[in-house]
Amino acid sequence: MRVLLVEDEKPLGQAVQEHIAAAGHAVDWMQTLADADVALRTVDYGLVLLDLHLPDGSGLDLLAALRRRGDQRPVMILTARDQIRDRIAGLNAGADDYLVKPFDLDELQARVAAVARRYAGNPNPVFRIGSVALDLAHRQAWRDGAVAELTAREWAVLERLLQRPNAVVPKAQIEEALYSFGAEIESNTIEVHVSNLRRKLGADVIRTRRGLGYQIGGGSA
Ligand code: CA
Repeated sequence: MRVLLVEDEKPLGQAVQEHIAAAGHAVDWMQTLADADVALRTVDYGLVLLDLHLPDGSGLDLLAALRRRGDQRPVMILTARDQIRDRIAGLNAGADDYLVKPFDLDELQARVAAVARRYAGNPNPVFRIGSVALDLAHRQAWRDGAVAELTAREWAVLERLLQRPNAVVPKAQIEEALYSFGAEIESNTIEVHVSNLRRKLGADVIRTRRGLGYQIGGGSA
């Protein structure tokens, strides 16, 4: 999932970015409202982590503007403990959740994972594809009952494909979900992840639609 982090406190922003990226999500970190606004109009983010007190204004204004133009993507507010009014205003402005600073990075990670599952549109976090079971909540995979070890990037590929089971997802959309601005992507990176997933989970789990993209699960050929 591609995540936009809007936060002007550098140590906090860096810690959050590193922690979420380690779980295989691509994080773009912006430190002003102006930069965040440009990013939001450019990339289809699965989640926005939004600080409220920013150098060029309030995150609440960005949130309100998003909702005014009908943009319903999940927004999680990051606020200080003494800013209860901000939190209430944020929820009223259309935030989905909030975290109080200083927050535990593992709690943030768990909430990001929950958003990723909702974004995937499946309340049941265990997907079954033939003899393969995928538990997105705990990032555990089994093939014929045996545990399969997947990397964070491989999970990110699966999450992106599972957002639309049986639909064909263009390679560019998978790249966009996995890599942030400025990341160097080899032209065959996604092919390598898919090839590794097939080796671990079976050749049938992901189909290649030549010239179109990739598809998870069955679906008619
Ligand atoms: Ca701030």
